[in-house]
Amino acid sequence: MNDRIIYLDNNATTPVADEVLQAMIPFLKEQFFNPSSTYPQARKAAEAVEAARESVARLLGAGSKSEIIFNGGATEGNNSAIWGAARANPARRHVITTAVEHPAVLEVVREMEREGFRATYLPVNRHGMLDAADLIRAIQDDTAVVSIMHANNETGVIFPIGELAALVKKVDPDVVFHTDATQTAGKMRLDLQGELKNVDLLTISGHKLHAPKGVGAMFVRRGSRWRPWQLGGHQERGRRAGTENVASIVGLGAAARLVMTHPNHSTAMRDRLEKAIKDQIPNLFINGEGAPRLANTTNVAFEFVEGESILLALNDHGICVSSGSACTSGSLDPSHVLKAMAVPFTAAHGSLRISTSMFSTDDEIDAVIDVLPTVIARLRAISPYWDVRTNSPRTDVDIFIQGKYR
Ligand code: PMP
Repeated sequence: MNDRIIYLDNNATTPVADEVLQAMIPFLKEQFFNPSSTYPQARKAAEAVEAARESVARLLGAGSKSEIIFNGGATEGNNSAIWGAARANPARRHVITTAVEHPAVLEVVREMEREGFRATYLPVNRHGMLDAADLIRAIQDDTAVVSIMHANNETGVIFPIGELAALVKKVDPDVVFHTDATQTAGKMRLDLQGELKNVDLLTISGHKLHAPKGVGAMFVRRGSRWRPWQLGGHQERGRRAGTENVASIVGLGAAARLVMTHPNHSTAMRDRLEKAIKDQIPNLFINGEGAPRLANTTNVAFEFVEGESILLALNDHGICVSSGSACTSGSLDPSHVLKAMAVPFTAAHGSLRISTSMFSTDDEIDAVIDVLPTVIARLRAISPYWDVRTNSPRTDVDIFIQGKYR
């Protein structure tokens, strides 16, 4: 086991940045006050929350900080956005989303179906891309909400949210458009007054951009059809009840300022990694390569190897990445995202997600490039589908994929 940790799983979570932690500490100690208290000592806490709101509004390109609501992260945000939009439009009983959303959207929509709503799950093509014509066709007279993620957490594929939202509004301006921007905030420029001006609701999560876990924000455009989801006290102007998580909110504000001033993710690291492994390892492809992708995300399918085994072997070298085939609920099904992209079963099972942060280094990428070819060769040597002598798949065995032999 290697002592050095090479953390390349930043789409799962990111470490809290030093400046974020420093900004938070006073609000866990001497400035511990409840921002709703009326005595002057508590004013600093309330002011700090408002300063963070201003920073998050700037990060998202929102017109006013009053459009930002702090919450407990993107799972809460997505629940609140979708249920809140549906409840604000009670006569409308149809929801549109995509087959590749995070479970924090998919499970909400499935629950809505159990409650009597109808739902459309838009398909994606082999590259993970949506067809805008499918979206337009899916809109019905009683569509309440469209929820489409900005970038996919597994493949990094970016959907043209600005265009899609504009198309939806052209067909029916009363449909509420929500986007889960958890993977794009801090990685791409967001502009809710420009490119994203037709988006009504947008959700983000702090821990994907070097703020702590358990804090997030939702943008609600002024005048949107949306009703609060979490009820109770008057915090967040009655739109999200519960005493504010002041220190974490301050952390999210500091993180927003950090990612706005730090040089953006460049594609150079990702492209170098992809080229090096393509040059050295046969029978691999990049999931989503044919579509616009986040600069920080690579999802590689190594045919005829098992993703979990690659993961463990890389971890022996201190490398932390994630597998695209995470066995869900005890089944051996590959990820729903790769399945929706019709990635062949044997490749989806050998898929690996590598995701950098703005703190990732060339050395860390070099470490992956150094060990990955050996790891894959070793695992293929014990695969019943691989011929070590020719370093290619065996041609004398039939491979059973999705009900038929290939
Ligand atoms: N949406 C997307 C696209 C995500 O990547 C995640 C985190 N994996 C979430 C929602 C949920 O965020 P959280 O766990 O912070 O609630």
